Amino acid sequence: MARTPLERIRNIGITAHIDAGKTTTTERILYYTGKSHKIGEVHDGNTTTDYMAQERERGITITSAAVTAEWKDYRINVIDTPGHIDFNIEVNRSLRVLDGAVFIIEGVAGVQPQSETNWRLADRYNVPRLIYINKLDRTGADFYRAADTLTEKLGINWVALQLPIGIEDNLKGIVDLVEMNAVVWQGDELGAKFDIVEIPADMKEKAQEWREKMLDAVVAADDEAMEKYLEDGDVPTDILKRAIKKGTISGEFRPVVCGSSFKNKGVQPLLDAVIDYLPSPVDIEGIKVAPEEGQDETAERRVIPADENAPFAGLAFKIINDKYGNLTFVRVYRGVLRSGDTVMNTTKEGKERVGRMFQMHADKREEIKEVFAGDIAAFVGLKDTGTGDTLASSEDPVVLERMAFPVPVIDIS
Ligand code: GDP
Repeated sequence: MARTPLERIRNIGITAHIDAGKTTTTERILYYTGKSHKIGEVHDGNTTTDYMAQERERGITITSAAVTAEWKDYRINVIDTPGHIDFNIEVNRSLRVLDGAVFIIEGVAGVQPQSETNWRLADRYNVPRLIYINKLDRTGADFYRAADTLTEKLGINWVALQLPIGIEDNLKGIVDLVEMNAVVWQGDELGAKFDIVEIPADMKEKAQEWREKMLDAVVAADDEAMEKYLEDGDVPTDILKRAIKKGTISGEFRPVVCGSSFKNKGVQPLLDAVIDYLPSPVDIEGIKVAPEEGQDETAERRVIPADENAPFAGLAFKIINDKYGNLTFVRVYRGVLRSGDTVMNTTKEGKERVGRMFQMHADKREEIKEVFAGDIAAFVGLKDTGTGDTLASSEDPVVLERMAFPVPVIDIS
């Protein structure tokens, strides 16, 4: 496995009200991230549906706890976050190991009751979020009305980074309010090409107006951007992007992008937004150690920042049983671990020998010999490690904060 610098890792989840398009969006993300180096090699003609069918057959996309994908020299680990209300505990568990999330709402109904529940859960863990308004091709879809439900139902300060060009059957592309250009698709089939063009004449005024709104919110969150804005009345793209990322991480505002995953419009810009605006493991504070006995959750605690050169520490966040046996999914927070190493299970005060390790991709599982801080891998052969346990080097046998249980029942009526 080539080592990916920490700054170029994104550990994200995709969360949505059931039916808003989480599965479709995840599949498209895996398709577009796999295309350039793997799926693109499949002979044209038998590509996508075959790929999706195989995928379903193997069940990797849907049942895997985390799938690794590459996008423009970045590694994106997509961690499964179940959407069902019955799986609240599961949602909770997986939110713990995310650094950021794509929060999907749909373009007709906007925020729905379950979206509210998931939003509040993500708030509890301060998960930075990008909002993706999906299904803009559907009859009755309205980007602006759906975005308004973010204010009405969630009471949040959102900023549009994109606007749709056309709507429903006429959805053609998006205006990018950061780059101030437009992405227009040439078709709506999987893999359809797109052009980056000037903003259409009839949308120029609207784009300017919405860029102003965006700038107002973004510069308020960043001094350097504010200075440029006051000097020049605008902000250079690189400074603007950095400021958007900062505000997204702090939660000062919530950026909104849009598209139609089903019609293959908006997925690549969404991936760009993930790498531009969601944090890497080093952009955030790190994970806290668990409270000591007698301490409660609010007590001051040591924070473990992401660092490859420190002793190993990771958190087992999900165990799945598939035809290969027990796979323990571990989020590595610190250090390096090699197969064959022995680590402590600091939660249970035991030892574990690490057998084989795998990284799960959409179309294959890749055996790896070492895992680094920031990454996610599946371990085979751990004997006593359960969900929520910490694995750590005896050099610094920390116990990481576990997922909070029990999860309060949230009334969504
Ligand atoms: P999930 O329950 O959130 O995982 O939603 P799915 O991805 O399974 O999508 C639910 C339904 O909506 C499926 O029938 C999808 O084909 C459809 N769907 C998903 N995305 C879109 C979209 O962008 N446009 C339209 N028209 N349908 C979509």
